Amino acid sequence: MDEFIAIVRAREFVRKTRPDAVPVSVKQYAAEIGAGIKYDHDLPPDEAGGSFEAKGKRCIYVNAHDGSARQRFTVCHEIAHFVLGLPSEHQGSPSWSYAKRPPNEIWCDVFAAELLLPIILFKQRVDDAEVSLASVETLAEEFNASFSATGSRFAAVGEAPCAFVLAEGGVVRYASRSKALRDAFGKIPAGSKLPRGSLSERVRQGRAPGGPEECDADLWLGQWERGGVLLEDARHLQTWDQTLTLLWFEYEELPEGDSRAAGGRDDEAALEELDGTLPWPGKKRRR
Ligand SMILES: [Zn+2]
Repeated sequence: MDEFIAIVRAREFVRKTRPDAVPVSVKQYAAEIGAGIKYDHDLPPDEAGGSFEAKGKRCIYVNAHDGSARQRFTVCHEIAHFVLGLPSEHQGSPSWSYAKRPPNEIWCDVFAAELLLPIILFKQRVDDAEVSLASVETLAEEFNASFSATGSRFAAVGEAPCAFVLAEGGVVRYASRSKALRDAFGKIPAGSKLPRGSLSERVRQGRAPGGPEECDADLWLGQWERGGVLLEDARHLQTWDQTLTLLWFEYEELPEGDSRAAGGRDDEAALEELDGTLPWPGKKRRR
């Protein structure tokens, strides 16, 4: 199993199930694998749900106290465990922390995001929207999906050169980039700190209300010699110390220049092309 296989299997599943309305019906998805959904009122707040199979019957249970976007993600995550045949790996792994998620859980999250934001229904809407965090918010509501999953899919499938960055504790954990930006070798390495003086850093420190705001492209992009100006917008989620940033080029165009001189081969591109999901914040475990 790897991220690529998780995505291919998710897209096969979506093709088979043929969702035709937004938000997609997770009940229809569950029915496709013969699973019923139960809403459990007795689960503790830190438990999102889980699944089991007994006497040939599949059951997915979700925390009845969670919001509906959260519950929908849980259902799709559990469908992934069945379809991909992956056992849970939840012990001691907070689901809100991207850095600490075990591989099985990340692949199930990737699968879940493909189901909730299917490319056949999502991409056209992204192409029609202007690049902004407000657009991410609108699409997240329309698809009844989380802000972070929608943002990372927004960047991954969009035509404009842009990136959606998730930082925890001021450190970049994950950057989802559009094809245009990957092709130009625009990198935002995981493990790097939020750039000093950036809007995102100030939003995290509570010193800025949000953007968008202009900055030099090389403030964010490593080994970037094309120049150009990026627009940056950011939100900070205090509870989990997560900063969510959207970056895009002015006029939605890359600046001229030879990126090859600076970047060379982009080793991460093959993998990052496929990314598109982030875990939900706020839950310690999921069965
Ligand atoms: Zn799981």
